[in-house]
Amino acid sequence: MLNAWEAQGGDPQRDARTNVVVVGGGFSGTLFALAAAAARLDVVLVEREAKAGPGLAYGACDPRHLLNVPVARMEVGLKPSFAQWLKASGADLSAAIEEAGGDLARAFVPRALFGAYLAERLETALAARNGRLRRVRGEVVRVSDRPVPSVTLSDGRRIEGTHVVLATGNLPPRPPRTRDGGVYDSPLFVPDPWRWQDIDTLSPDAPVLLIGSGLTMVDVALMLEARGHRGPIWSVSRHGLVPHVHADVAGRLGGVEPFLDPAEARDPIRALRLIRGAVRQAAVRGVPWQRVMDAARPALAAVWAGWPQKARERFLRHGRTWWDIHRHRMAPRIADAFGALVQSGQLTVIAGRIASLDLVPGGVAATLRRRHSGRALSLEVARVVNCTGPRSDFAGLAVPPFDGLRETGRIRPDPLGLGLETRGTALLDRYGHASTWLHALGPLSRPAFWEVTAVPEIAVQVHQLVEELARPASRRQRPDARLIAEFVDLGEGI
Ligand SMILES: Cc1cc2nc3c(=O)[nH]c(=O)nc-3n(C[C@H](O)[C@H](O)[C@H](O)COP(=O)(O)OP(=O)(O)OC[C@H]3O[C@@H](n4cnc5c(N)ncnc54)[C@H](O)[C@@H]3O)c2cc1C
Repeated sequence: MLNAWEAQGGDPQRDARTNVVVVGGGFSGTLFALAAAAARLDVVLVEREAKAGPGLAYGACDPRHLLNVPVARMEVGLKPSFAQWLKASGADLSAAIEEAGGDLARAFVPRALFGAYLAERLETALAARNGRLRRVRGEVVRVSDRPVPSVTLSDGRRIEGTHVVLATGNLPPRPPRTRDGGVYDSPLFVPDPWRWQDIDTLSPDAPVLLIGSGLTMVDVALMLEARGHRGPIWSVSRHGLVPHVHADVAGRLGGVEPFLDPAEARDPIRALRLIRGAVRQAAVRGVPWQRVMDAARPALAAVWAGWPQKARERFLRHGRTWWDIHRHRMAPRIADAFGALVQSGQLTVIAGRIASLDLVPGGVAATLRRRHSGRALSLEVARVVNCTGPRSDFAGLAVPPFDGLRETGRIRPDPLGLGLETRGTALLDRYGHASTWLHALGPLSRPAFWEVTAVPEIAVQVHQLVEELARPASRRQRPDARLIAEFVDLGEGI
């Protein structure tokens, strides 16, 4: 058995120290590990991939894939800053800087660079922390508090701590519920769009069906194009709506003050009406709607927290698609490249649903039903790629360590299928009690915050948890909704 105390020579004087085991070394886990070690906590960061730091978002990408936000929005308080690091990196950023009018802070740079930045920060900290921060490569399959908080890896190693932080991020998408005729079990179905080896063997002229029309679909379409794909690409989603493009990003919130009072935005209809009203007012002053969306963002967690479950359900059913395409936007160069694919006729986006999939000699026969007319469209494709976005419903998930945590009642999936229930970052058990030792960061904790999937919000969450754990145990606060209020205030500052 390993533990952080043993790693430091088993000094019994240190046994009262806070000793955190972090599961997942993507952005959330890595930033937490860096910030916690800087606050003199002992941290073991467990990541199953060879490299810790980039995670899925900034690891599974090629140079063509850009960050969805400009450099300034990816700053998370590390030294050197991302912008300083980029300048010193020698990376060719000319196209990005030119597009941003010469200002690196406003540039959309490749995602992989942010991953490399995080990995390098981690390596530097690992070298400097003299054992206070350790990295373990392995897959966590069990998390328990009996007799003390610990994680068990798939190879049987066990690591103890005083706290466990789950930062396992984005799960692969769930296959759509449709009659799939064995397609889901065949090599012609790509269940996880980030496993490119399944796409790499594709003939360049073969037709491809992408399920979904969000940013993941855009990524996969551009990745196919970058690999010289010439065949037709079909994308199908219920509404057939693709993400909007960012406006020119001059200044942080450029001309719109943060707004959206939770008391006024007390249901989804009112909230969307307030946002639309602010968009109209901004337009009069020549301010693009994108800025209004960004200015609404700091208040979103508090607005969401104020909605009862029925209101949240209504928002997810009727407002989510609208929200997603306005909120999760494409970088301008990505939008240009994607637009060119559509203009050329190579890529077609269809509003509708998949009625059936069947295996036929050499491919997959897909029958789609168009949204309004209900007319059928029959396609024959060589691959079907699931681009429906990360899965978030933990209720039926048979993936360790979540299955064990659910069975022992240590976690409680939310009824809307967004993630795990938390109070602040403390996970709730099956009875709704906030854990004193088990925490969640990032996309897992979405039910309490709604918008906690992107870097600025996760950074706020990370710093709050570090601050809390860095206090002596006797002065720690009971987890409560206070964190949500602070989330809003701090959100404006990042
Ligand atoms: C493709 C994509 C692009 C994005 N682009 C942006 C962007 O430009 N800007 C922005 O602000 N946000 C972006 N996001 C949002 C993104 O979710 C967050 O920014 C953030 O990266 C989430 O990090 P994470 O560490 O929580 O999750 P992940 O990146 O998913 O990392 C989780 C890590 O945990 C590891 N792990 C999982 N289970 C285990 C286990 N059992 N044992 C050990 N290790 C485990 C995984 O291997 C992985 O490395 C993007 C998201 C995606 C999916």
